[in-house]
Amino acid sequence: MNKTLILVVEDDTPVHNLITTTLKTHDYKYISAKNGAGAIMEASTHNPDIVLLDLGLPDIDGVEVIEKIRSWSNMPIIVISARSEDSDKIEALDAGADDYLTKPFSVEELLDLKDRMERERPTPWEELPDLALYMDQIIAYMPRQLIRFGEGESLTSAMVNNYIKDGLVPRADGKRYGPVHLGYLTAVCALKKVLSVRDTGV
Ligand code: CA
Repeated sequence: MNKTLILVVEDDTPVHNLITTTLKTHDYKYISAKNGAGAIMEASTHNPDIVLLDLGLPDIDGVEVIEKIRSWSNMPIIVISARSEDSDKIEALDAGADDYLTKPFSVEELLDLKDRMERERPTPWEELPDLALYMDQIIAYMPRQLIRFGEGESLTSAMVNNYIKDGLVPRADGKRYGPVHLGYLTAVCALKKVLSVRDTGV
């Protein structure tokens, strides 16, 4: 059994069944939600590896679901929508969706995107390398956590020192940093995408 857990948010039963049958065929675990409130609840309860989210939901708009999830999590969100309007997709991406599929999509498209999202998922804390790293080594490691820094922007030792000074990241053990530091730095860099720069004390 594949360990990846996928949350399928879709109120249209035939589409829902098509997606879940595909996932089942490929041995993926999934959970389902038929509306926005259910999606937010399932996402927070089960912390899925990927969310497949329909934008047109019966209770709240899919974009609002993305905003809610993004207020606490960086989990990959793929929007699935019948809407062919580019403005809806742009709005969803702006709200923090990672990618989108337009209905009707093929099984191959779904699996390709899912594979890409899996590869792009940051390493969870418990699987971070248990090494004592120097400052330049943790900075070199951070792009592997796939934090998308803005154009011409990157993590510097001065920034890391500021995070430590502000108590956002624990102090080095001697001059060495370990998995805990990588975990905190991943969280801080991910949060920077949601909060303003001033809020994170940079
Ligand atoms: Ca729908």
